[in-house]
Amino acid sequence: MKEIKNWYIHIDFDSFFATVEQQANPRLRGKPIGVTGGDRLTRTVIGAASIEAKARGVKTAMRIPEALKICPDLILVRGDSYKYMEINKRFLNILKSYTDKMEVFSIDEVFLEIESSRLSLEFSAIDPDSRLLTLATDIKERVQQEGGEWLSVSIGISYNKMLAKLAGSMYKPNGLVGIMDQDSAIQILDQIELDDVCGIGLRIKARLNNMGIYTFKDLREVPLQNLLASFKSYGQVLYNFARGIDERPVVPYFEKEEVKSVGHRHTISKDVSTAAEIKQYLLKLSEMVARRLRAKNLEGKTISLWYRAAFNQAYFQETGSKFYGEGMQSTVLYTNDGMEIFNAGWKSFRKIWTDEPIRMIGISVSNLKPATPATLSLLDDVKRREVITRALDNINNRYGEFTLQRGVLLTSAKLKRMPNSFMSDRRFRI
Ligand SMILES: [Mg+2]
Repeated sequence: MKEIKNWYIHIDFDSFFATVEQQANPRLRGKPIGVTGGDRLTRTVIGAASIEAKARGVKTAMRIPEALKICPDLILVRGDSYKYMEINKRFLNILKSYTDKMEVFSIDEVFLEIESSRLSLEFSAIDPDSRLLTLATDIKERVQQEGGEWLSVSIGISYNKMLAKLAGSMYKPNGLVGIMDQDSAIQILDQIELDDVCGIGLRIKARLNNMGIYTFKDLREVPLQNLLASFKSYGQVLYNFARGIDERPVVPYFEKEEVKSVGHRHTISKDVSTAAEIKQYLLKLSEMVARRLRAKNLEGKTISLWYRAAFNQAYFQETGSKFYGEGMQSTVLYTNDGMEIFNAGWKSFRKIWTDEPIRMIGISVSNLKPATPATLSLLDDVKRREVITRALDNINNRYGEFTLQRGVLLTSAKLKRMPNSFMSDRRFRI
């Protein structure tokens, strides 16, 4: 057995949303609670169940009347994404201190990759098993110290990601399981279902079943080329899984500055001076902004509207600047709806527009928060993870897009606030 160079650690909160609510409100502790979403749709189902509720048979995505039939004393709690984001932030800060190879898998799940050699430096115990144990215990303690005593995580340790996650799922809550070598890995794989491994969903399982493959033992007997023929490149992954091999690296999550606003602006090819025409542009921009917010699963409450007037000779002579521009911010209830964004923007526009022709108009939404996380829990586990990961990816990959908007809108040097009579509306110059 070759020496293990890197250890993979999977850390997963136990019943995250529900435990965070119990941490915040001690009266909910030890009781069956169901977290529901904030909007009309998700308020009718259980978004997340506490450990106590799960023990009574309450499941995620169960309709509330059904859940109450099974568990009449179930306490329903409205989900609160601020709390979850705050705990998530502290959680990531703790884990960052162990390694910079950290992959954020979902709001409550993280992979760490730690070199064996570093491990021996930081934890002086003699054998690797007890050094890993020290590390895991350390993480568990710090989560409770910095997040709260009611919170707990389950930890899985192994020599690759797939097995670390599997190990973490084997004992919950507050679990700590290590799969320390390939022999133990194969022993465990041969006792579990195909879809117990993350990466084999129900559809792949069904296709494997159709090929007469029901266990990892069966899977090991299939030649690689057959798997490649049926599953293309994923055939290699399945071939490896059956042998306890997973070469996927930890994909570090580089913390970028949080996305502060999502916006669009449009420079119109001609000067526009009729309200009806401007309205069309603004409506289109608002819909684009709303779509992007929804794609990122965000909603915001500050709507900024700004425009630049067409070139005006008199203004130029007077001020030396070519274009006159103005903007206004207003506050609405959290939204990612195109019509609501448009309505707020249009109202601002009517307040500041003095009928001059315009050349550019822009609208953005800031003061963002994640849209009801309970909605995410309604999707099945894998899909939910995909959604969250994709959201993070989008934020990271597309950050560049926002810099221009932010430059125009948020650089304080360029932004002169002017007091006005509207309570929440603020005018600014661009
Ligand atoms: Mg969890």
